Order: sequence, then structure tokens, then C-alpha cells
Amino acid sequence: AAKRAGRGRVASFDQALEARANRHLTLSGELREALAKDQFVLHYQPIVDVATGAVTACEALVRWQHPHRGLLAPGDWLDVAEESDLIVQLGEWVLRRATQDMATVAETIRPLKVHVNVSGRQLARPGLVRQVATALSDSRLPAHLVVLELTETHLLEIHGSLLNDLGRLRQIGVELSVDDFGTGFSSLTQLVKLPIDSVKIDRSFVSGAAADPKAGAVVRGVLGMANALGLAVVAEGVETPAQAAFLERIGCPSAQGFLWSPAVDLQRLRALLADGTRLVPL
Ligand code: C2E
Ligand code: MG
Ligand code: MG
Ligand code: MG
Repeated sequence: AAKRAGRGRVASFDQALEARANRHLTLSGELREALAKDQFVLHYQPIVDVATGAVTACEALVRWQHPHRGLLAPGDWLDVAEESDLIVQLGEWVLRRATQDMATVAETIRPLKVHVNVSGRQLARPGLVRQVATALSDSRLPAHLVVLELTETHLLEIHGSLLNDLGRLRQIGVELSVDDFGTGFSSLTQLVKLPIDSVKIDRSFVSGAAADPKAGAVVRGVLGMANALGLAVVAEGVETPAQAAFLERIGCPSAQGFLWSPAVDLQRLRALLADGTRLVPL
């Protein structure tokens, strides 16, 4: 019986590996097709002034309009895209779409900053600076309306060519932000070496901030450090009025989260902006 159980475990381990490989293979094929068939869409989550609810910016978040499975958030498939060059093409598409969308918003409603997520592989490639420059000139969106979000893990290894690219991006006029701040163990010494404009405090700290003194201390600490370094701060994943009240109390200027709005399609973003100047908690 033990032998059989042992074999069973081996078999299920193999099956798990095989399932993983199959998922990867199927998904990467589907994703390639999705790019060709234009099945990706961008949704935009408002970033608000915590004190007033005024929309100060937005974050572009990619979704896949799957032909059979509906609208899929990146959690279901982005990892597969990020393991290959697909993410470089998808990233370019995201940059172009976001800049075009925001150019029309700027023209017809008002100028609004857009945050665009950049993955490690995009950053490691030589083409990113050119992609950004081209998207800006084609859309005619002013560079200061674009904020590129990089994650800490991508910035852990600071080398000459990365610093050079980040410097060139800032020369173009786009801002740089560190996403999911606090989850990547990057050190302050590394942070001060980087040409960045803002940090986004990860939802894992924001969620607990109002109730758990330790999480609250982390949020306060990041805010204090950012203030000292002259960096802007956005708190991510605010879901409750208590969390918003905590942020307001400690002087955290901006935030995003389901409390105000999830990511919405361009039409709904336009309606939010046209509707009024501030979002009230949901
Ligand atoms: P992120 O950049 O940290 O984006 C924030 C994520 O938190 C989004 O998930 C957003 O929908 C979600 N969120 C916002 N407010 C709340 C809240 O109050 N509660 C909760 N529970 N979640 C909230 P989403 O859209 O599923 O994206 C997940 C991640 O996928 C993003 O995390 C980002 O790392 C990546 N991603 C999304 N779009 C792109 C893209 O265009 N390019 C790249 N490279 N990565 C992207
Ligand atoms: Mg982000
Ligand atoms: Mg984030
Ligand atoms: Mg996050």
C-alpha cells in the first residue's frame, strides 16, 4: 500500500509539472493570438486625493477580453506573458493605448496623469526608452502626464544600463514610481540612488494599517521616508473608510482602492471625470 501511495505521489507530482507545462503552452499560444486579434483592453483605476476624493490621476490595468471566458484580470495569465517576449509586445501595446486614451481625455475633458505598469523584462530590454518616446510623439500626449510604475524587485539590481535608461526616461519628461513598495526588501541606500519621483505603498500594509499597529507603523514609516526624500506617495488597495481616515490622519496625500472605485473602462472613466470633481466612497 505504501508503495502504491508513493507511486501515486510521484505520479501526481509529474502530473502537476505536466499541467503547469500545458497551461504555459496553451496560454502563451492563446496570448499571442489575443495580441494579433486585439483582445486586450485597458481599464483605468482612479487615484484620488485622500482628503477630498478629487481624481488626480489613474492607473492603466490590462484585461483580456477572452472569447469564451469573459474579461480576465492579469492574475490569471500575466505571469505566462512575463516569462516570454510576449510581455514586451503587450507592454508596447499598453503604452500606445494608454497614451492615446489619455490624449483624448486631455483634449476633451482635462489633462489627467496615467500610471503605466512596466515589467522587468521590458526594463531589461534596450527598447523601452524608444517605445515610450514613440508612444508619446504618436499620441501627442505631454510626457509629464505619464508615470511608469516599476517594481522593487526589478530595481534590486541596479546596474549602469538600467540607471542610464531610467535617466533617459526622466529626461524625456515621464515620471517614475516604485510599485508595491515594501514587498521587495529594497534598501534605502538603493532607493536614494534611483531617479524616482514617487512610491506606491503596497496593499498588504494599507489593508492592515487602521487596525494593526505594526502595519500602521510601516505606512507611517514609508510616508516619513518619502517626505524626507521629496517623493510623492500613493497608498494602494484602500477598501474601508477606516483605512482612508488613517491615511488622512497621517497625511498620506493620495490613494487608490475599491473604496472610491475599481478599474473601469475608458467610457466610465470619462463619465467619472465629467460628472464632478470628487469621488465619494462607494
Ligand atoms: P498593481 O500594479 O499593484 O495594481 C493594483 C492591483 O490592485 C490591480 O489588480 C487593481 O485592480 C487591484 N486593486 C485596486 N484597488 C484594490 C482594492 O481596494 N482591493 C483589492 N483587493 N485590489 C485592488 P489587477 O488589475 O488585477 O492587476 C494586478 C497586477 O497585474 C498589477 O498590480 C500589475 O502588477 C500587473 N499589471 C496590470 N496591468 C499591467 C500592465 O499593463 N503591464 C504590466 N507589466 N503589468 C500589469
Ligand atoms: Mg501598478
Ligand atoms: Mg501596485
Ligand atoms: Mg500592489
